[in-house]
Amino acid sequence: MTSAFTNAKRQIDDVADLLMAEYPDRKLFKKAVEKLKRPQRVLRKSLSLRMDSGKIGSFISYRSQHNDARGPFKGGIRFHPQVSEDEVKALSTWMSIKCATVGIPYGGGKGGIIIDPKLLSETELQRLCYAYAEFLTPYIGPWKDVPAPDVNTGGREMAWMLEAYERKIGYHAPATFTGKPIELGGSLGREEATGQGGFYVLNEYLKTKKLKNKKTSIAVQGFGNVGFWFAKLAKKAGYKVIAVSDSSGGVYNPKGLDVEKVMIHKEKTGSVLGLYNELTNDELLTINVDILVPAALENAINKENVKNVKAKVILEMANGPTTPEAEEILLSKKVDILPDVLCNAGGVTVSYFEWVQNLHGYRWTKEHVNEELEGILEKAFTEIDNLVKIKKISYRKAAYLMAVKRIIDAMILRGRV
Ligand code: GLU
Repeated sequence: MTSAFTNAKRQIDDVADLLMAEYPDRKLFKKAVEKLKRPQRVLRKSLSLRMDSGKIGSFISYRSQHNDARGPFKGGIRFHPQVSEDEVKALSTWMSIKCATVGIPYGGGKGGIIIDPKLLSETELQRLCYAYAEFLTPYIGPWKDVPAPDVNTGGREMAWMLEAYERKIGYHAPATFTGKPIELGGSLGREEATGQGGFYVLNEYLKTKKLKNKKTSIAVQGFGNVGFWFAKLAKKAGYKVIAVSDSSGGVYNPKGLDVEKVMIHKEKTGSVLGLYNELTNDELLTINVDILVPAALENAINKENVKNVKAKVILEMANGPTTPEAEEILLSKKVDILPDVLCNAGGVTVSYFEWVQNLHGYRWTKEHVNEELEGILEKAFTEIDNLVKIKKISYRKAAYLMAVKRIIDAMILRGRV
């Protein structure tokens, strides 16, 4: 399987040729593209951690700061055994593209620690978050780099990191982290924001296709914060969520699942299994369904399993879930792929609102948050959809065309190339 970072670079190359005509100075443009394919800085540190047993453990951690031509680096922190330098580089590249796609004033960053957080106690996790934030302190801040949650991290981890960071700098700076608990300056609507954003994109897309939601069936791979909220909101709106899965496998009911019941069961038992007929993660990707929603990790749909995918629409809620090889095959079969950089941008967009609120020392209502979020995603969807129709290109290419141009223009204006 190709690496995630190779895929991210290929996606940029895929639109470079289309964009070139817009730049009279081709040499300058080519230089900018090459620069855009490399993160500006990749930080790495092995963190030492005193375990509850008294022994010292060490865990490799990263932060990739991809490009800050449009604003401070922005992006989550992931705790997962699969974290690698290649992965954070890819994820930070996708963050730069994502922020530019929806037009919020950030560049891209991503951090991660190679760890299965389930194997640590709560106090060990807390010490790990403190150690990681101390390591990052010189490199982050509201106008430098603004981290947030990602896979296996949430408000609790952001609170610990904020504490360690503020202790080091000696004053409050809540706008350094987003996705914080409400009590510490988090925003209303941030927890469900990524799912909510995907839901708005789905509605916009179906409007253009004149499809009715009642008949539309959905399968969601990944039942973390993103997958759960997306499934919950889709079900509430009348869509039929027929399958969901987590790392232990999936559950299936052609008549539709009770999404909240599955979540309560997962919270009690640790997995979605037990309430309905079961299926594997690979089976979920290949069931007969209208809309397939990969909401877990990269490369879920790849050249090995793509031939069995039956869905006519893929709505990417994970980052990088479809490999470029798989995408080519799907596009040749007229499958619409609604790209990650649009579908899951709701999370970082509400992070932006949180940052704005923190900088102003002010609070927005949830209604205001959702109204603003819907406005931003509707606009981005319409811009992308217009490009799809005018240029006869895929949704991903349309999003990248817009985003890469915005970043390269900012780089040129700054005189970075
Ligand atoms: N981790 C999320 C993402 O991949 C959110 C990032 C953020 O809020 O900065 O988009």
